[in-house]
Amino acid sequence: QAKNAGKNRYQPYDKLSATKQNRKLDIVNQLHHAIDNNEFSLVYQPVVKLADGSIVSSEALLRWTTKKGETIGPDEFIPIAENSGQIIDIGNWVLQQACQQCKIWHDAGATHHAMAINVSSHQLKDPQFSKRLSDILTRLSLPAALIHIEITENSIITEDKKSVATLHELSELGTRLLLDDFGTGYSCLSYLKDLPFDVLKIDKSFMPANNTIASTIIAMGHELNMEIIAEGIETEMCYKFLKNLKCQYGQGYLFQKPVPASEFDTFKRFNFD
Ligand code: C2E
Ligand code: MG
Ligand code: MG
Ligand code: MG
Repeated sequence: QAKNAGKNRYQPYDKLSATKQNRKLDIVNQLHHAIDNNEFSLVYQPVVKLADGSIVSSEALLRWTTKKGETIGPDEFIPIAENSGQIIDIGNWVLQQACQQCKIWHDAGATHHAMAINVSSHQLKDPQFSKRLSDILTRLSLPAALIHIEITENSIITEDKKSVATLHELSELGTRLLLDDFGTGYSCLSYLKDLPFDVLKIDKSFMPANNTIASTIIAMGHELNMEIIAEGIETEMCYKFLKNLKCQYGQGYLFQKPVPASEFDTFKRFNFD
């Protein structure tokens, strides 16, 4: 029993972990009604082409304000929803909303503006996933190429046949596949040649400028013919450093924090020169 208690294995009883457990249960309970109560919303952060400062796409990021008025971040509730299985319904809601927003911008003239959607590895195991996405796209008559699917490097499970099949189905469908938080995983890089990923997103933890890890990943991306997005660009120095290395795209507070769709201007151009 005590052996399997994870971090607290040498403590028969731990107040802190009991509190954490209660918090998790509380979140699971509150998540049950979150969709029906309209407690979720999406905010959008631009992906900027570093060469000219134009916006090429946006990333949809989930926000949750509970009935009690508490704001809980995705870094906290997504892992809990993954464990409880609730991520499937939540993920479907995100998929639907983000595609709908992409369609609204598409119809407003941003015909090349793509939408990046974060997808949990648990959703990839759902055999209905790619069918569900393609149904949404058909209904909206939206080109699949405008949808970018972000999967975190840490969650890639190459042994899971269903997940691998879903990735290939998505690629066949014409969506782009992005490897999120790249550089933070400890997996063997050989999956890069077996799985149909198009883009690497360098994790924001590597972002202080002059970082050799960031420049090495960019060079590797060029070799592998993959596009690179650097996340977490907060300073002009960092932006210029990445632009010089021919990193194609960037995201970060320097350009814009994630905002609701109503505050997002797809035609905006950023200029730092
Ligand atoms: P991510 O996909 O890697 O998203 C990047 C995170 O960095 C976002 O945090 C974003 O707000 C933040 N960020 C953007 N620019 C900067 C910057 O310049 N500096 C810093 N320090 N941070 C920046 P957020 O919105 O809290 O999301 C955290 C994570 O939660 C995401 O990481 C993603 O893994 C997950 N997530 C968010 N929305 C969804 C969703 O709809 N579905 C799933 N499955 N996961 C989601
Ligand atoms: Mg992401
Ligand atoms: Mg990331
Ligand atoms: Mg992340």
